[in-house]
Amino acid sequence: MGRELEKRLADLRQRILGCKKCPLCESRTRAVPGEGNPQAEVMFIGQGPGANEDRWGRPFVGRAGDLLNELLRGVGIERSDVRISNVTRCLPPGGRLPFAAEIKTCAPYLLEEIELIGPKVVCLLGNMALHLFVEKSKVIHEVHAKPIPQEKFFLFPMYHPAAALRRPDLLPQVKADFATLKAFLDSKPTLEPQLGQQSLF
Ligand code: SF4
Repeated sequence: MGRELEKRLADLRQRILGCKKCPLCESRTRAVPGEGNPQAEVMFIGQGPGANEDRWGRPFVGRAGDLLNELLRGVGIERSDVRISNVTRCLPPGGRLPFAAEIKTCAPYLLEEIELIGPKVVCLLGNMALHLFVEKSKVIHEVHAKPIPQEKFFLFPMYHPAAALRRPDLLPQVKADFATLKAFLDSKPTLEPQLGQQSLF
């Protein structure tokens, strides 16, 4: 990693750790910055910290994190190879979902992180991450495992691992989607210029 990238990621991390831009700074124990390979080809974006992430200050360290690690290993990808982050960085009170205004306030940190890492594929785990990039009429159960080209990377919507914990009948589909992701990465996909496509970057 170049020193400039290292410096900019460390700066982003510090800003997140000390952030008080939205009311969630009152309910958190720790803010949770992204972690993992700073030059990852693939990023995984969840919705926000749960109780375990809040306690440890790291993304995806609870049961959903264990399942994510297992799903990655199942297709020959190590967690240390990828970047893992979230739409929001602080645990809401009572474990509620973040409000739209909180998501809007926090999202620039994620967009900055994606710009710095420069992944080829951004996996959107669940509807909150999906709806940061595509209209709300599209939902995960319709678009999962279907790559969506953007100007600088492909979006790859996927079920959030927590969905498979709540609904074990989803697990075979979730595993199949990770296999589809691996095949997609192995195919070395390239982006065509996106005429008329709106980009967040
Ligand atoms: S959720 Fe995001 S915007 Fe809100 S306080 Fe935490 S880091 Fe800041």
